[in-house]
Amino acid sequence: MSTIISRELLEKAVRLHGHLGPFLVLGLKMSLLAKKILGRKPSRCEIATISRKPYLCAVDGIKVVIGNAVTAKEDDGLSAKFSAEGKEIVFRAKKNLVKKYAEGPWKKCEEYAHEVMKSDDEWLFMQNVGRVVRTKSVDWTVSRTQASRIFRVDISPIPARTDKN
Ligand SMILES: [Zn+2]
Repeated sequence: MSTIISRELLEKAVRLHGHLGPFLVLGLKMSLLAKKILGRKPSRCEIATISRKPYLCAVDGIKVVIGNAVTAKEDDGLSAKFSAEGKEIVFRAKKNLVKKYAEGPWKKCEEYAHEVMKSDDEWLFMQNVGRVVRTKSVDWTVSRTQASRIFRVDISPIPARTDKN
């Protein structure tokens, strides 16, 4: 399933951030998914990523959806923990995609953004949907079963783009 970003929300994000890129859209999608799964707008988000652009572009995407209560900590990859009323959920973007989008040429920025927009959530994120937790400390690791499933997904080649431009 692909999380739909309304045109209005996307335009607002681009206005706030200054340009359209894949990490901005990843931030939007993570937040919209968190909102849907938690059943309300998350009150807080902690993003863990490499503390420079383009990774940090995701922060603005998250802010557009949940407001300014976003903190960042250093980590490799890109993940975000959302909290709402004592419940938490973590999304982690697939490693191969983070690498592709971070290392791709600047001129592909908008093309990548559209790719993220059209992509299924399952294709973008390792998703702990079943693991909405109520504790303050979140287990950032995944179970062995999840890991093997994710690993298979992770190492498969990136599907060809299906749009016809
Ligand atoms: Zn940016």
